[in-house]
Order: sequence, then C-alpha cells, then structure tokens
Amino acid sequence: MLHLILFGPPGAGKGTQSKLLISKYNLTHLSTGDMLRSHLKEQTALGKEAARYINQGLLVPDEVVIDIIKHHIESNPHANGFIYDGFPRTIDQAVKLDELLTGRGQQINLMIFFDLPDSLIHERMRKRAEVEGRSDDADDQVIATRIATYHQKTKPLIDYYCAQNKCAQIDGAPSIEEVSLATCHAVDGLIKHE
Ligand code: AMP
Repeated sequence: MLHLILFGPPGAGKGTQSKLLISKYNLTHLSTGDMLRSHLKEQTALGKEAARYINQGLLVPDEVVIDIIKHHIESNPHANGFIYDGFPRTIDQAVKLDELLTGRGQQINLMIFFDLPDSLIHERMRKRAEVEGRSDDADDQVIATRIATYHQKTKPLIDYYCAQNKCAQIDGAPSIEEVSLATCHAVDGLIKHE
C-alpha cells in the first residue's frame, strides 16, 4: 500500500497535484485542511474549536488532526494507498503517523516537497482567496502567520524525511503540467522499486 506525503508551503500546489495523482494512481486523498473545513461548515464542536486556530493562521493542536487522520485511515481498509495533503505539519504529527503505520505493518514511502519562495506563496494565496473565497488566504496578517508557522514548525519535517531517505524535492514554481510531470516521475520511480 502506497503512502505519499505531499509537502510544501501554503499555495505550493499540494491540492492541485493531489487531484491529479489520485485519479492516476487510484489513491485516497487525506487533506486535514479539507476535513477541518468540512467540520467548520457543519458547525461541529471540533469545527468550532478548530476555527479559532484556522482564522488566525495557526496550527490546530496535534492530537486533533492525528485523531482525524487515524479515523480516516482505519475507515478505508481497502484503499489502494493514501495521499496525505497538509499532514503531517509538525514533527510530533510525523512521529505519530509513523507509529500508526508501523502498527499496521506499513510505512511512508515518499514525501514530495514542492518548494516555493515566500514571494510566490503570497501571490498564490491571494489568487486562491479570489477563486475559493477562503478567508485564511485573504488577510495579509493571517497569510504572514501561516508562512511563519510553516517555516518554524513544518519545514523541520524536510530533515525528518530526508534522514530516512524519503524526500523528493520538486520546484513548485513552474506550470501545473510541468510540476505534475516531475511528480509522476518521482512516483513512477517509487512504484518500479516497490
Ligand atoms: P490547509 O488547507 O492545509 O492550508 O489548512 C488550512 C488550515 O487548517 C491551516 O492553516 C491550519 O490552521 C489547519 N490545519 C490543516 N492541516 C493541519 C495540520 N496537519 N495540523 C494542524 N493544523 C492544520
């Protein structure tokens, strides 16, 4: 079973590339951002709690997202594989995910890191705010906090997965098609060696 992490700053193209990979490789998409937004929409207790963090550009507590991911993995026993989009975002989340998969006799196969300079992150988030109407993409202060949080808490995961020889770095700046070609190349190489 394939376990792929799509990693990168907000606006790097993780969601877009996920959609392309899901249909090509028949994988199940696990986006913690989408899951939290759906809780927000349904006004669940979890959604109301998460909104306090999301609206400020801060990370939702680790145990909340780990529980959500655990639930989705366990409720999809027949999946061909999973794409993690926006998860893990802290070392603690990565460690917990490793423990969860090890307990199931599985492991992360590859973390695909879409690299993007901060200037482009800003530009893409503003564009996405216009298209998708996400309030956490529209406010300059929230954008700045999300970028700072990415650098402080999330970027250390690159070293975590590189140390396990599981990191593929891809330039996230070119067109969707070019990034997709490079991404599929990395996944095909992985499948060949499975
Ligand atoms: P995203 O759609 O992945 O950009 O996530 C939107 C927001 O949801 C983030 O800014 C966080 O507040 C929250 N969020 C999503 N995934 C996680 C995660 N793995 N850990 C903590 N917070 C998360």
